Amino acid sequence: MLRSNTCGELRIEDVNKTVTLSGWVQKIRDKGGLIWIDLRDRYGITQLLLEEGRSDANVIEKARQLGREFVIQAKGEVIERVSKNPKIPSGEIEIDLAEINILNASKTPPFTIEDETDGGEELRMKYRYLDLRRNPLMKNLALRNRLSIETRKYLDSQSFFEIETPYLIKSTPEGARDFVVPSRMNEGQFYALPQSPQTFKQLLMVAGYDKYYQLVKCFRDEDLRADRQPEFTQIDCEMAFVEQDDILNTFEGLVKYLFKEVKGVDIEKLPHMTYAEAMQKYGSDKPDIRFGMEFVELNELAQGKGFKVFDESELIVGINAEGCGNYSRKQLDKLTDFVRKPQIGARGLVYVKCNEDGSFKSSVDKFFDQEALKIWAEKLNAKAGDLMLVLSGEADKSRKQLNELRLEMGERLGLRDPKNYKPLWVVDFPLLEWDEDSKRFHAMHHPFTSPKTEDIEMLESHPGSVRANAYDLVINGVEIGGGSIRIHDRSLQKQMFTHLGFSEQEAQDQFGFLMNAFEYGAPPHGGIALGFDRLVALFAGQDSIRDFIAFPKNNSGRDVMIDSPSPIADNQLDELGLKVVK
Ligand code: ASP
Repeated sequence: MLRSNTCGELRIEDVNKTVTLSGWVQKIRDKGGLIWIDLRDRYGITQLLLEEGRSDANVIEKARQLGREFVIQAKGEVIERVSKNPKIPSGEIEIDLAEINILNASKTPPFTIEDETDGGEELRMKYRYLDLRRNPLMKNLALRNRLSIETRKYLDSQSFFEIETPYLIKSTPEGARDFVVPSRMNEGQFYALPQSPQTFKQLLMVAGYDKYYQLVKCFRDEDLRADRQPEFTQIDCEMAFVEQDDILNTFEGLVKYLFKEVKGVDIEKLPHMTYAEAMQKYGSDKPDIRFGMEFVELNELAQGKGFKVFDESELIVGINAEGCGNYSRKQLDKLTDFVRKPQIGARGLVYVKCNEDGSFKSSVDKFFDQEALKIWAEKLNAKAGDLMLVLSGEADKSRKQLNELRLEMGERLGLRDPKNYKPLWVVDFPLLEWDEDSKRFHAMHHPFTSPKTEDIEMLESHPGSVRANAYDLVINGVEIGGGSIRIHDRSLQKQMFTHLGFSEQEAQDQFGFLMNAFEYGAPPHGGIALGFDRLVALFAGQDSIRDFIAFPKNNSGRDVMIDSPSPIADNQLDELGLKVVK
């Protein structure tokens, strides 16, 4: 080894030891008579010291040739520091340098390798290997490593098998576009990269591997956002001979185990909330239940009083923002602007301030007297000093808009503490979802999800009302994962494909292999997949997953470091039987 110790481990107890460290030069301070070098590696920083007159003149000369990020080997004795630095664990000692070997020189990096860097996003992505040297990123990847190890430990303890499934497959419809790979040996034909190993894990159940998991890359060609990457990692699982509750209990166990082992946090029993309830009370299928502020519907109280906006609305729905009754005109205008932003799209915002003296001041005083507003307040459980905020319009839209406003108010009121974790299961999702563009129903989860037995009879008459045995794990308003009990019966699966608009031929061409497998003893089964990158980011209390992935893509799906995607040579195209249309 080119070192006896790391740059993070030496302490006051090590004084008088002769050690060899290797690492990167973080900083050099040359104060004439004294030279200090901060040497950094993955484990921390140790200060090296040279003193004119006392240290070897050749070593001093070598030190004066060093620049930032040079890779060096440093030998010397651990000594107690005169002025200690309580901010770093090795701050009580330094190394009295006896020897320096330059292992490699370095150009001056394009940005500082410090916790707070001066590098912009694009530059840091281009030099990702330098950005990864920074402490915050190392911490993120260490957390990722910890979580993957603990996940494997837990699943192993529950007798799960980790089995790899192929990356070169055929398209699996999970709602997104596929990335495709041309096949040289089969000209004109393409593989697809898996959006998830869905069909393979179901086939493993047919094969009798009754508890499968995999930490697996999945690929989806979607527009990117802060919490999305074209390739991302899932904790993908499937179990046979189970019902929904068995899966929920097993993965509730995983969630609790991870929080306990990795963060030392005890998580209470996860509540179950139906999709219908989540939409009604929070306007979202991923409710943030760290705080209440539940929706209250006001149609009965607010309609028929001559206020046209309300009278023409399908839904009038409000929340109570506790303690916000003293909001100024300006603050209220800002909230109105917030809900009117095009991304949210409300037409306006009705407010009712509950004054300290028991009276009310509202934006609809013309239509609602004090008595009427008092009844609203009772319904919304608003007290003196509170602020009622009301939206109206089409039901679905108003709920979605109020969800945004609720989250914004929760944020303003400090009710969304990232260190407070409130996971829950959202259950009973609809099986199908109407798609306006294609004018047909799509599977809300995926086409292999089973309908609730008692709802099957509505498949023909009210397809939109059929509920699925499908569930999501939601933590602090973030959808961490989802899954379902699957169809394991060939004829029901065939019927599902028909409902989803597949012709018999299309279903056979795309999923014949799965339906055939169902004829050879498919056990009842179900599973779940958790977004691993999101889970890691959540454990670190952050929204963006990018800094929890070693080499992520930018917003245009590009890797600016290796400059990909990129054109390929004409002969490569020829070999693949592809032509470029110029
Ligand atoms: N394959 C699904 C997904 O990626 C998860 C599942 O149903 O197990 O969302």
